[in-house]
Amino acid sequence: MNALTLEEIKEKLLAERELLIAKLSGNDLSVDDSETPDPVDLAVRNYSKNVMLAVSENESRQLLLINEALERIADEEYGACQNCEQPINPKRLNAVPWARYCLSCQELLEQGLLDEE
Ligand SMILES: [Zn+2]
Repeated sequence: MNALTLEEIKEKLLAERELLIAKLSGNDLSVDDSETPDPVDLAVRNYSKNVMLAVSENESRQLLLINEALERIADEEYGACQNCEQPINPKRLNAVPWARYCLSCQELLEQGLLDEE
């Protein structure tokens, strides 16, 4: 697979961002406590609410990464690792267009050996 052009990456990021925003606002609607359900119902609802909160945390984080990637495109800095400044492998960018780091720095990060900015 060939490397995507910057324009294609931007489109991908924008589409992904719309999806996330739609999901996140959907979550807000479902966290509605106006009704008073029976206790079992309530337990189930609280459980799914916690799950949803965890999901929206991940999604908010991804949204942040996507916004950052879009900013890097605007600043013509896109594709450079935010740690070592080496170009990120285009295959990696195809798969994870909002990636901040090259693979080796990402591994360091996952091992807790890299301080995130
Ligand atoms: Zn790097």
